[in-house]
Amino acid sequence: MRIVLLGAPGSGKGTQAQRLAERAGIPQISTGDLLRAAVARGTGLGLAAKAAMEGGRLVEDSLVLGMIRERLGESDARSGFILDGFPRNLAQAHALERLLAELKQPLDAVVQLEVDPAELVRRISGRRSCADCGRVFNLLTSPPPTGAAAVCPKTGAPHRLVQRPDDNEATVAERLRVYDEKTRPLIDFYRSRGLLRVIDAQGDLDEVTRRLVRALAPSAGAARARRPRAATAAARRKVADGRTRKRSAKSARAGTRSKKTPRRQAPRAKK
Ligand code: ADP
Repeated sequence: MRIVLLGAPGSGKGTQAQRLAERAGIPQISTGDLLRAAVARGTGLGLAAKAAMEGGRLVEDSLVLGMIRERLGESDARSGFILDGFPRNLAQAHALERLLAELKQPLDAVVQLEVDPAELVRRISGRRSCADCGRVFNLLTSPPPTGAAAVCPKTGAPHRLVQRPDDNEATVAERLRVYDEKTRPLIDFYRSRGLLRVIDAQGDLDEVTRRLVRALAPSAGAARARRPRAATAAARRKVADGRTRKRSAKSARAGTRSKKTPRRQAPRAKK
């Protein structure tokens, strides 16, 4: 599966990409994370990117493209990838298209995560991530777990929560403006290529993951679309998350869905 997650800052691309990557066993490739790592290491790339990032502007295309070309060339990306935060303007989208054509690995789908602007600002202000493992939390909507589950997988100690330096009010306003001006046109670009799926990315985190998984289910193309209903539903159930599975098991035990009333197709993602 080769996909791009599109969405404004705060739309949950990073969080959903992390979840999907774990589930599908393919890497999440976040240009924001790669750039932040370069800044933290003080590499030439990091030094060149730092000012733009702090100002909420886009880092120069040539730097980001070089980084992406290198990352997509790594062996783990051969089985697929989830691009998060890239491409971010039309020039990057065209360059990605050329690169993937060269690699003979075209995209399967592009998913646009839709969130109201007011909600974006609220989410960004609550966002914190672990300085050690990079996991993203939100103090308002998805705080880090407590107890045994709270430890960081990297250090074995509790997560060390930090706020991103560009999550301040002035920079956030600029990032949202840049998104509208430079990134939003990618929605039409990918729609014209028949790759676009749109999901409502508001509400419960697990529910958004389910919508994302459902939106990706038909991505294998026409052959899959032509399969009988039952086969498609079975394939969907295979990727549906534990909670869904648990719930269907429960309802089956409770007899709420008998064999005479077969499962209907999962509701479709919002277009
Ligand atoms: P968000 O989506 O919340 O704005 P990211 O972590 O994706 O956060 O990006 C943080 C910053 O890194 C951006 O504001 C920008 O300066 C830089 N950046 C990330 N990806 C790209 C890209 N594809 N092209 C140019 N700059 C980028």
